[in-house]
Amino acid sequence: MKVFKFGGASVKDAAGVRNVAEVLKRHALDDVVIVVSAMGKTTNALEAITWEWLDGRPVAREVDALERTHQAVLRAVAPEDEAARTLLAERFQGLRAILDHAPSNGIDLHYDQVVSFGELWSSAIVHAHLNSAGIASTWWDARTVVRTDARHRSARVDWDASAEGAAGMLANVGGAPLRVVTQGFIGGAEDGSTTTLGREGSDFSAAILAYLLDAESVTIWKDVAGMFNADPNRFRDTRLLERISYREAIELSYFGASVIHPRTLQPLQKKNIPLYVRSFIDADAPGSTITAATDRDSLMPSFIVKPLQLLISITPRDLSFIVEENLSGIFKLFAERNVRIELMQNSAVAFSVAVDDSPRARQLIEELRDEYEVRHNEGCELITVRHYDEATLDKLLAGKEQLIEQRSRTTARFVVK
Ligand code: ASP
Ligand code: MG
Repeated sequence: MKVFKFGGASVKDAAGVRNVAEVLKRHALDDVVIVVSAMGKTTNALEAITWEWLDGRPVAREVDALERTHQAVLRAVAPEDEAARTLLAERFQGLRAILDHAPSNGIDLHYDQVVSFGELWSSAIVHAHLNSAGIASTWWDARTVVRTDARHRSARVDWDASAEGAAGMLANVGGAPLRVVTQGFIGGAEDGSTTTLGREGSDFSAAILAYLLDAESVTIWKDVAGMFNADPNRFRDTRLLERISYREAIELSYFGASVIHPRTLQPLQKKNIPLYVRSFIDADAPGSTITAATDRDSLMPSFIVKPLQLLISITPRDLSFIVEENLSGIFKLFAERNVRIELMQNSAVAFSVAVDDSPRARQLIEELRDEYEVRHNEGCELITVRHYDEATLDKLLAGKEQLIEQRSRTTARFVVK
C-alpha cells in the first residue's frame, strides 16, 4: 500500500483536484491512501474566522464565502453528485452551529474545532471527484485513526489507540482494491474533540498513516520538484537533492527547510518506509528519495535562511551566573508559551536565543523581564549551512553583521542583521 499526500496548493482549485485523479492514474490506482490538506489558503481563512469569533465579531460572511468557493469547485469536479453537494452543505452547517455559540472554553480547543473543517471539506471534494472520474474510493474520517491526546493545536499521537483505529479502518474498507481518501492535519482525542497536529501537519499525518498501515512508501506531491539544497524561490542555481537520508532530511527540515514537516521523518524511519517528494505539476519527474541509506547523501552545501528572527538575550538581574536552575525555568517558559527556540547560546551571565518573531514571543519577553534583564534585537536572519564551505559562507554573509556564529563539523549557523 502507498500513501499519497496532496497539500493545499495541489488541491487549491478544480484543476488541482482533477490533477489528483491524473496523478493516481499514472502512479497508484490500487492500494493507496490519499491524504489531503485543506484547499489553498483555507486554513488561514479558518484561523482568521476563529480569531474574529473569539473576539465576538460576526463571521457569517467569511463562512459564506468559503462555502461558495468550495461548492463551486465541487460543482466543477463532480457536477452530477447531488449527494456530495448536500453533504458539503451539511458540513458547512456543522461549522455554523459551532460559531453560533459564544466561545466558552480554551482558545486552542475552539481553534481545533473550527480550523479542522478545511480538511473535511477538501477531502469530501477530492473523494467526490474520484468517484465521478470512475475511481471508486472510500472517504474516511482521520479522527478515528489518528488518535491523539487533547493538547489542542499541537496534539501528540497515541500510537496504541491509533493502531486500533487503523485496524478498524482496514476492517471496514477491506477488499481489493483499497482506496481511501482521508484528511491530513486532524486527529481525534479521547474526549471526542477534534485535535490538530500543528500547522502544515498533513505531511506528518501521511507518515503516521504509513507507519500504522505498514505502507511501502509515502509520496508527498508538492508544487516544487523535490528537496533542494536551498529554497529555489529565493536563490538561483539551486540543486535537487535526489537521494538523501532520513537523518539529513530531518536536519534540513529542523533547521527550517519548509519542504516537509520535520516530524514526518521519524515514523517513516522507524519502519524504514521510503519518502518521495515529487512535483504534482510534473508528476513524472523523479523528485527526491529519502531513505535510511546514507551513502548517497549529498555533501554539497545546503542552506536555509529564516528571516524575521528575534534575538533575545537574557541576563540575571544581579549578574549571577546562568546555571541549570535558571535554564530550566527559562526553557519551561518557552515550552509553556509554545515559542520554539531556533538557536541558543550561553555565556557566564547571559543566555541568548533566536526565535521567530511573533506576538507570543513578544509577550514572553515581557514575562521574562520579571526576573531577568532582557534585551532583544529584531529583524534578524538565521542562516544555517549544512556541509558548509568558505565560498558558500562568504556569499551568504556578504555585507551582513554577524551577531552569533556557531560551527560544528557539518553545520554552520549564523544570526545576522
Ligand atoms: N491545512 C493545514 C495547514 O495549512 C495543514 C497542512 O496544510 O499541512 O496548516
Ligand atoms: Mg498547507
